[in-house]
Amino acid sequence: MSDNNNQTVDPKDDKKTVQSPIQPLTHDDIRRFVPSSNCLDGKTILVTGAGDGIGRVAALTYARYGATVLLLGRTSSKLEYVYDEIESLGGKQPAMLPMNLEGATYAEMQQLEGLINKEIGQLDGILHNAGVLGQLTPLEMYDVDTFAQVMKVNFTATFMLTQALLPLLKDADHGSVVFTSSTVGTHPRAFWGAYALSKQAVEGMSDIFTQETQNTTNLRFNCVNPGGTRTNMRAHAYPGENPMSLKTPEDIMAGYVCLMSDESIGVRGQVIELQPKD
Ligand code: NDP
Repeated sequence: MSDNNNQTVDPKDDKKTVQSPIQPLTHDDIRRFVPSSNCLDGKTILVTGAGDGIGRVAALTYARYGATVLLLGRTSSKLEYVYDEIESLGGKQPAMLPMNLEGATYAEMQQLEGLINKEIGQLDGILHNAGVLGQLTPLEMYDVDTFAQVMKVNFTATFMLTQALLPLLKDADHGSVVFTSSTVGTHPRAFWGAYALSKQAVEGMSDIFTQETQNTTNLRFNCVNPGGTRTNMRAHAYPGENPMSLKTPEDIMAGYVCLMSDESIGVRGQVIELQPKD
């Protein structure tokens, strides 16, 4: 894990002043964060997989705390629904960005960067939340096409989109990129195949981006592990489980808000478990 107390300033490297080290929040501080009502005011935040599950609730929550939210997802009707929900709660007008990350090309992602720059002029954060489960089966039997699909959606497209949007994110005063991992990303487990491997790769990518940017930019990269949460994906992974025994996406939003707010500008290169086991 990267050392987030090791920031130095090299004026040649970047036009911005890199933040001097501040006392970073602990993971407990992040999980228990109590947001002020306008803590995301003035920020533009893109959420992938914003049409359902944790991504939908994160998009609504970011809007509730004052952000302009860019809703990226593959099912337009779901994005429209979230768009309407944000409008009805009085949030700032969101934008819908229909994109299927499985087939999306780098050129399309660069076009998206141009569009955001032209229409909004800023991007302060990305929550990389979209994900697919793939198969729960031994690697020996894992369907190779499904393997490629899971790696593309969960990892490769996440990398491509981050790289394509970096110019805007580096321009933000305090940009924040939040990746989504999983317990099996930190501790790979038999039968979790491409899902576990894609999440391991995401954690590695977050660490590498952190090392490569922490001395020259104010941009920060972190991972969250939501822990077992009541969504469609969880129900597919654990069909015998009582969903009422699980936290809802709403229950775990404090950490998601904290990592996008300026309260977390000292937090870099971390993997934050939102529901740690005692
Ligand atoms: P859901 O399946 O409920 O939602 C996933 C979202 O990702 C949906 O909005 C879905 O869109 C979108 N998505 C899937 N494939 C694509 C694609 N090709 N292009 C664009 N969007 C896509 O999952 P969760 O909310 O449970 O999971 C959110 C994240 O949290 C995932 O990264 C998951 O791995 C992670 N996670 C979840 C846990 C849990 O217990 N729920 C535990 C640990 C990690 P659509 O609705 O259109 O299909």
